Amino acid sequence: MPTEHNAHEEGPSAFPQAATLELRNVSKRYPGQREPAIADLSLSVAAGEVCVLVGASGSGKTTAMRLINRMIALSGGDILLGGRSVLDREPNELRREIGYVIQQVGLFPHQTVSANIAIVPRLLGWDKPRIAARVQELLELIGMDPGEVGSRYPAQLSGGQRQRVGVARALAADPPLMLMDEPFGAVDPINRARLQDEFLRLRERVRKTVVFVTHDIDEAIKMGDRIAILRQGGQLAQHDTPAELLTNPADDFVAEFVGADRALKRLGLATLADVKLIAPNGSRPGPARGTVQVTATVRDALSKLLAAGGAPLTVIDWREEVAGIVTLELLGGLLEGGALRGEAALRGNGPPGGDGAPGDSDQASGRSPGEPARTPKTAS
Ligand code: ADP
Ligand code: MG
Repeated sequence: MPTEHNAHEEGPSAFPQAATLELRNVSKRYPGQREPAIADLSLSVAAGEVCVLVGASGSGKTTAMRLINRMIALSGGDILLGGRSVLDREPNELRREIGYVIQQVGLFPHQTVSANIAIVPRLLGWDKPRIAARVQELLELIGMDPGEVGSRYPAQLSGGQRQRVGVARALAADPPLMLMDEPFGAVDPINRARLQDEFLRLRERVRKTVVFVTHDIDEAIKMGDRIAILRQGGQLAQHDTPAELLTNPADDFVAEFVGADRALKRLGLATLADVKLIAPNGSRPGPARGTVQVTATVRDALSKLLAAGGAPLTVIDWREEVAGIVTLELLGGLLEGGALRGEAALRGNGPPGGDGAPGDSDQASGRSPGEPARTPKTAS
């Protein structure tokens, strides 16, 4: 949940932990271009929220990022970070408060990993022991061994490792805002999924306001608290939660952008813990019946059911105990009953169809008492 953080006493910097970001009627016209790259963009991002900017190539995503950190100048409008106009800030000072991660990473090739991560803390005049401690902390945070990796040069790392170091470097001075421009775009699909999962785990520990740019709607759905879909000219087509975008696309452009399989994608946002399962009635997982973890997304459960030829699956909870039974009919009922229209129905707070979806009277919660509800944004 986005929260307003104003102070961060124990943090490694004097910056607030996360700041609000507001674009107000922003426009940008490049010299010599007939059409503005961004015509009139207004967008608010709450402190601690991940806003994903998604749109086709040329829709103005990178332009928007560069306007925020003043690498390029606004043609009109204003941008407020933590309630203060970026135009009132000295650009170099502003940029130290904004972590910037780009696809090409931009690590300095002749400096070690540690020295690369230390760049902004050095500019901020931190003393050596403090910088060393911060570098060590960040390498551990991104799952790298400081002793092993810190003294290497960028060329001695894999693409995925370089991208992680890029994220660590952007986080080094604990900035309240992170701008990430297609950060995982140049990494192969397997490593990209790994980096996405790591980023989601990192987010549980380090709360930052993040603007994350991608042209990949699936990445947007996975990473974003909210998604802003841009048309050409930086026009905002819709700004909503992933569930809302998939359930109620504002127009045909958005519907086409999120894809014809949006009902299936919607199923990817919920896990079996969110579904009222059929009561197991004492059944034990046996060799005859396949199993699926309660942490699986509804979409993955559906795939598994189809792969099993439609036979019911036993749902196993985090204690390795039976949480319930899932069937094709049960998930089909969720889809048919219009349950995908609201979180509530999917979460089992109301009958999905109203006319008795399968298992309606005979259900068990996949979640045990006292266990917190799982949010779909948790990396598995
Ligand atoms: P995206 O990141 O969404 O692909 P960009 O922000 O890079 O889009 O570009 C938006 C539009 O602005 C495009 O039409 C692009 O050609 C144009 N553009 C970007 N940078 C410049 C520049 N330095 N000079 C002139 N036009 C530019
Ligand atoms: Mg771009």
